Amino acid sequence: TEETLVLVKPDGVARGLTGEILARIEAKGYSLVDLRLVEPDRQRLERHYAEHAGKPFYEPLLEFMMSGPSVAIRVAGERVIEGFRSIAGTTDPTTAAPGTIRGDLGRDWGCRSQQNLVHGSDAPESAARELSIWFG
Ligand code: ATP
Repeated sequence: TEETLVLVKPDGVARGLTGEILARIEAKGYSLVDLRLVEPDRQRLERHYAEHAGKPFYEPLLEFMMSGPSVAIRVAGERVIEGFRSIAGTTDPTTAAPGTIRGDLGRDWGCRSQQNLVHGSDAPESAARELSIWFG
């Protein structure tokens, strides 16, 4: 069965939304396989966000991701990569659909889409790569 990496980003942890987000993953029917609280260093985030290096939001994104702990979760289930991205909603929380994590719980706090509560891997190759970065 497929696995994905979910992160509850620092905004989600700071706002006390970890339990709500875990509940939505479980209610959808996926299995929590492993979970840890992580304070990532810059090197880990450079690996995780390698595809975004050089983009205008890259440096602020790394700073935000170092602003506090994230919860890293290994989640399993048939088509969980696609399924988690569906329940997460689109990147920009201002316009993410109601009913999604970002749409129900997120908003713009002054940095566009930066603080959008969660990350989910977008393909099997990135899931394998990201799971090794966060769970080694
Ligand atoms: P993720 O891959 O983290 O689930 P995503 O695929 O919805 O998010 P990406 O385009 O891969 O979004 O961007 C990665 C992350 O960079 C976003 O989740 C968000 O935190 C941040 N980000 C993306 N676009 C912007 C933007 N325009 N302004 C600020 N931050 C942004």
